[in-house]
Amino acid sequence: MQRVALVTGGSRGIGEGISLALQAMGAKVAANFAGNEERAKAFTEKTGIPTFKWDVGDDGECADGVRRVEAEVGPIDILVNNAGITRDAGFLKMTEDMWEEVMDTNLSSAFHLSKLVFPGMRERKWGRIINISSINGQKGQFGQVNYSAAKAGMIGFTKALAQEGARFGITVNAIAPGYVATDMVAAMNEDVLEKIKAGIPVGRLGTPEDIGRSVAFLAAEEADWITGSTLTVNGGQYIC
Ligand code: NDP
Repeated sequence: MQRVALVTGGSRGIGEGISLALQAMGAKVAANFAGNEERAKAFTEKTGIPTFKWDVGDDGECADGVRRVEAEVGPIDILVNNAGITRDAGFLKMTEDMWEEVMDTNLSSAFHLSKLVFPGMRERKWGRIINISSINGQKGQFGQVNYSAAKAGMIGFTKALAQEGARFGITVNAIAPGYVATDMVAAMNEDVLEKIKAGIPVGRLGTPEDIGRSVAFLAAEEADWITGSTLTVNGGQYIC
């Protein structure tokens, strides 16, 4: 049976790796994006995967976006909550706006979207919800109280929703990637990044493909006994 997958932030970075891995396992994939039209267009031309623009932090836009995806691609069986942003600052310099933007995009988005797809999954007795958290949600990170809180929140959300989904064949899991070579990491200070790389026992940054493979593993038909877990994928940087 061909499953339909929605990957938020699915047209570049880690999301692109996830979209391609799900496509390779035979799913029909839809990729959401926020505003980088040029990148989304190039991605669709290269992969054949349709893209849908909306802000995942806005519940009304999520409802409209899911409606469009379901009308054009089909009922969503696999939801990957991947879209995310950083707005870093030391705690006392962090503004309310920086806090809210990160909470809306990184955490409330998972609530809005899971709520929209859960009833259909429950009816069809099958679903996969996979939340892309972060190593910094597990260990906390200086200058990222907003991001660390949102990403830790995703792990709690995963554990709670897994308990509600289990009897309907819906698994809910999180993945906590370490540092992956994407635009988000390219924006970091080079000295800081060198120090991070030196602290990764496997000796390299992650790739979008590393995370894509992990998502495909959790999305598989055979993964139906894995729920409520957080898969740590970080080259050994933080073992928990
Ligand atoms: P990128 O910055 O490279 O890409 C982010 C993606 O999210 C883009 O597709 C972007 O869309 C989309 N996006 C951002 N805001 C919104 C929004 N409001 N609504 C819809 N889509 C949005 O990030 P990464 O690929 O590096 O990260 C992907 C996820 O992985 C994030 O949740 C991040 O926190 C997490 N992560 C990343 C790590 C890393 O080292 N890179 C480590 C651990 C976790 P558009 O293309 O239109 O801008």
